[in-house]
Amino acid sequence: MVFKFGGASVKDADAVRNMTGIIKNNDGNILVVISAMGKTTNSLERMVNLFVQGETNELQSEFATIKKYHLNIIQELFDREDHPVYADIIQMFGELERKLNKAPSMSFDHDYDQIICFGELLSTKIVTHYLQFQQVAAEWKDVRFSIKTDNTYREARVQWDMTRELVNQHFQFDNNRILVTQGFLGSTIDNITTTLGREGSDYTGAVLAHVLHAEKLVIWKDVPGVLNADPKWFDDTVLLSELSYRDAIELAYYGASIIHPKTIKPLQNKNIDLHVKSFIHPEREGTVISNVEYEKLVPSFIFKIDQVLIRISPEDFSFIAEDNLQTIFGVLSENRVKINLMQNSALRFILCINNDERKLPKIIDALKSNFNVTYETGLELITIRYFDESTVERVMVNKELIMEHRDKKNIQLIVKNMAN
Ligand code: ASP
Ligand code: MG
Repeated sequence: MVFKFGGASVKDADAVRNMTGIIKNNDGNILVVISAMGKTTNSLERMVNLFVQGETNELQSEFATIKKYHLNIIQELFDREDHPVYADIIQMFGELERKLNKAPSMSFDHDYDQIICFGELLSTKIVTHYLQFQQVAAEWKDVRFSIKTDNTYREARVQWDMTRELVNQHFQFDNNRILVTQGFLGSTIDNITTTLGREGSDYTGAVLAHVLHAEKLVIWKDVPGVLNADPKWFDDTVLLSELSYRDAIELAYYGASIIHPKTIKPLQNKNIDLHVKSFIHPEREGTVISNVEYEKLVPSFIFKIDQVLIRISPEDFSFIAEDNLQTIFGVLSENRVKINLMQNSALRFILCINNDERKLPKIIDALKSNFNVTYETGLELITIRYFDESTVERVMVNKELIMEHRDKKNIQLIVKNMAN
């Protein structure tokens, strides 16, 4: 089986001890996929920005903070000061420092991946050493030798044939070992590090489970399983104990942040169950995602804040036609923007996207060279799957409706929050 542990499950020494307990309590071959510790990836992201902007002083202080954070964790975990984990971790930080002392390249995305990867490299090293220290026969694997991708840095696409061959070659469970490897990372055919998109470790777990025909993938989280809403928005959430692949894909697609959207398909294709479980209560069942069938499920709610609605119309008052749409989609795909909702009418095309500060001005400018464009920020997008009228009423309190889209199972509402 494949176990995936996210950032929260390795955020401090106690968390690492807890995950070690979970591994010890499970028999059989386990491939452990781990994310960066706690909020390390966010901190590395800040470092990438400072590196590219040449803000050396702030960069050094961020570097010192994250180094200290990792060293503190190992000091708590390993009583011996001469434990080999220290040399390994200090060497990794030395490597990171050398990269930061070079000049940035012309590609932000390339540099991003070369720096951001240290989060997972560090966490897996520390965990592997700790498992060994606890008498678990664990082995560290560099996933970059096995997951091959194209060179779309920050959003790399897996090259399945090569990956299949290399994973089977490198991940062999002889001698009853526990294998530990990094989520989120891959590399190009010429071995340049790539990443699979933020929160991509779930997807790594699915890719490896798929290739190795794993019995199941377990994603360990700080929530009881998949809930019908984010507890941040609702205090009476319900645990969905069973979920079909289809519903899981739809919920993830609409933005339920519980599982990375790309995770389900590789599992579904091989009929591998996905368990989402609490690392705080590992004895509880959590959610099982499989090929179950049912008619209906309790309504699920997905909230996305900070949305932008862009209204586009041709400058010459002509209709929105295929050639216009081609131009619009061209701009979006060049900027790698995901459309959360769109609506087409004779004279206007409307789309809703996340407000990304770096991308929005570029998109608006590009669209303005061909169309009349207006846009509105600060909106919210609410999706309800298996909706009914009472659920719609419930979410519309204090909201002004800007646009709505419904089909048989889903309703999507773009709203302005009047409470703001
Ligand atoms: N550490 C990466 C991130 O925070 C990947 C992951 O956690 O899945 O985005
Ligand atoms: Mg993470």
